[in-house]
Amino acid sequence: MTQKIALVTGATRGIGFETVRQLAAQDIHVILAARDRAKGTEAALKLQGEGFGVESVVLDVTDPASIASAVSEIERKHGHLDILINNAGIFIDATDKKPSEQSLETWRTTFETNVFGLVAVTQAFLPLLHKSAAGRIVNVSSALGSLTLLSDPASPIYNFKVPAYNVSKSAVNAWTVELAYELRESTIKVNAIHPGSVKTDMNAHGDLEIPEGAKTSVDLALIGADGPNGGFFHLGETVPW
Ligand code: NAP
Repeated sequence: MTQKIALVTGATRGIGFETVRQLAAQDIHVILAARDRAKGTEAALKLQGEGFGVESVVLDVTDPASIASAVSEIERKHGHLDILINNAGIFIDATDKKPSEQSLETWRTTFETNVFGLVAVTQAFLPLLHKSAAGRIVNVSSALGSLTLLSDPASPIYNFKVPAYNVSKSAVNAWTVELAYELRESTIKVNAIHPGSVKTDMNAHGDLEIPEGAKTSVDLALIGADGPNGGFFHLGETVPW
């Protein structure tokens, strides 16, 4: 059997970096994508030093030229892609502002990375995923994108109103449903995941350690032909939309 090829965006640190490590530990050849070349090289070297088969590629999800160049490089080297983990994301809402007070700049910048960047990367890599026998796409969303939880006063996240980020993740969920419909007759499966509230640079007050936070991305990357398409998951449980 030939070795699977995976690509993880935003993989210099946090959940993305650990996702690369856990996929590589499954004997998958993992391409660690970083918007900054030096940071990507350093991160890949670290994992190579641990004995893992990892290479890096430059990929800024907001830069169409960078996306196109990453597609060409991966096509030239590997010819196809088996797993795409759309992990890159930003959280820049001002937490001291009311939902109606977030600046439009915050909304636009957040959507450029979390939504348009994710859609652009997916569109660009779909031809290579179609060349896989069983392509898998994992969209790293958040429970904060769940309209059900955010509108339920009994939910622990009811008061966590950071609208640009939350709505960007709701959009990722909605896009996952749209793409799953398109792919329903194909061998590709796409799902959204919530990694948990994970202790990273983005979330200093997270409950989970990073290895646990990467687990759901890895689980959904490794589903078989009988696995779900178009769902939203966290550690084996379904998350409400
Ligand atoms: P993090 O530690 O802040 O890491 C974010 C990663 O995204 C970094 O590698 C960063 O690269 C990269 N990135 C940002 N903008 C990018 C761009 N334009 N192009 C390419 N890469 C870009 O965050 P994290 O906590 O690991 O989050 C990973 C994912 O999980 C995100 O989608 C986040 O929304 C989601 N999530 C996290 C939590 C949590 O509790 N931590 C909860 C729910 C969902 P640089 O190093 O170059 O900045």
